[in-house]
Amino acid sequence: MLDFTMSDDIKDIVNGLYKFVDQVVVPLEKDNHALLESERDMFDRNGHFVSEVLELRKEIRLKSAEAGYYTMFGAEELGGGGFGAITMVAVLESLYHKYGLALERPLLDDVVIPSTFSNGLSPVLNNIKPELRDKLLPDIAAGKVTLCFALSEPDAGSDVMAMRTKAVKKGDKWVINGSKQWITNSAYADYAMVFAITDPELKASSKGKGVSCFLVDCNSEGLDRQSVIPFMGSLGGNIGIILFDNVEVPEENVMGTLNDGLKIAMGGVTKGRVGMSAKAVGTARWALEQAVEYANIRKTFGKTIGQHQAVQIKLAESAMDIYAAKAMLYKTAWEIENFDKPPIRDISCTKAFCTEMLGRVTDHAIQVHGAMGITNDLQLNMAFRRARTLRIPDGTAEIQRRTIAQELLKGRTEF
Ligand SMILES: Cc1cc2nc3c(=O)[nH]c(=O)nc-3n(C[C@H](O)[C@H](O)[C@H](O)COP(=O)(O)OP(=O)(O)OC[C@H]3O[C@@H](n4cnc5c(N)ncnc54)[C@H](O)[C@@H]3O)c2cc1C
Repeated sequence: MLDFTMSDDIKDIVNGLYKFVDQVVVPLEKDNHALLESERDMFDRNGHFVSEVLELRKEIRLKSAEAGYYTMFGAEELGGGGFGAITMVAVLESLYHKYGLALERPLLDDVVIPSTFSNGLSPVLNNIKPELRDKLLPDIAAGKVTLCFALSEPDAGSDVMAMRTKAVKKGDKWVINGSKQWITNSAYADYAMVFAITDPELKASSKGKGVSCFLVDCNSEGLDRQSVIPFMGSLGGNIGIILFDNVEVPEENVMGTLNDGLKIAMGGVTKGRVGMSAKAVGTARWALEQAVEYANIRKTFGKTIGQHQAVQIKLAESAMDIYAAKAMLYKTAWEIENFDKPPIRDISCTKAFCTEMLGRVTDHAIQVHGAMGITNDLQLNMAFRRARTLRIPDGTAEIQRRTIAQELLKGRTEF
């Protein structure tokens, strides 16, 4: 039985979340408009968020956690709301649809609801040792302590198993050496979920084994996470580099089974792909609605531009794209919720399609607005730049296609 209506329970969550954003986030954005308006004030000379912005982000996290939104997609066993994939995509799509370029609002994006796997009650934490549970989980769930997910390296992005970061056991401690790059929230996190080689021979002789996951205190001696990497013309940001120089980590900080870290990493990334797709669909709807509104107002040659066929085609193509992306997104969420095994092929189809779709839709929306479309006022250009970015993290568009083809070649051709 197919049912595409939003359940009353999900509607209630979405309406509550809107209320939270309107009553808590928006007033803080207004009060701090001068600080948040320009990147010149928001970031320091090294590209880090200034302390006032970090404080505001923390204030929102704590309030969102108190209200139950910050942890809603974390597992119940970790203290989260335990909501499944369908609720997750519906909530994220709704949030990014209503608040438009939420992706560029530093008090909203990944703050009210943290990234689905690289911060907050990440699925990686399902593997936390009992010794650390009581010490760390309550503060992570409360938004007091934040995390980052350190898998990629300068020479190991798509090809994660090309990683070089190593952890060697010395006495009762693990000692980590190496570097991680492009790590979201690295400069600000309290703990990093770090993936490092623990058995080089096993890594060489097996597929995906020999790498382990560690929960590393970011204030450990020998850990340097000063560098952030601004991108897409931004003056700062939240992706950065972490360097490990003989960083000591207690045995209890090993997450899950030793040498089985890649499985833990991919479990997280998979959830991230779906969450990112939902944000893309929501943002695309926001962009199309702006284009439709403008097409009904702006006049050229004696009629509104919406009456010109070339403009109609852009609107119609955007609608086709969003419709297809949204259907794909909810079907994939439904599969995740109804089957034990994650639908790998369909998650990759969804991530690649939704993020590429957002690029096409924002491009059309800008074009429909003419010169207005590229002004900072409308923020469409920022959505366009962000759309371009989303084709790279959590597996590039090419890696998604590689996964899709591999699954097809294994015989998974049913739809
Ligand atoms: C905004 C942002 C946030 C990020 N956050 C994190 C984070 O929090 N944690 C983390 O660990 N990483 C993070 N990353 C890193 C991200 O996961 C990597 O950038 C990504 O996996 C690609 O790796 P790469 O940049 O090294 O590109 P490469 O792997 O070097 O790829 C270069 C090009 O070659 C293509 N390519 C590579 N292999 C193949 C193949 N087999 N077939 C076809 N084409 C191929 C790629 O698609 C790409 O076009 C983030 C990246 C960005 C942009």
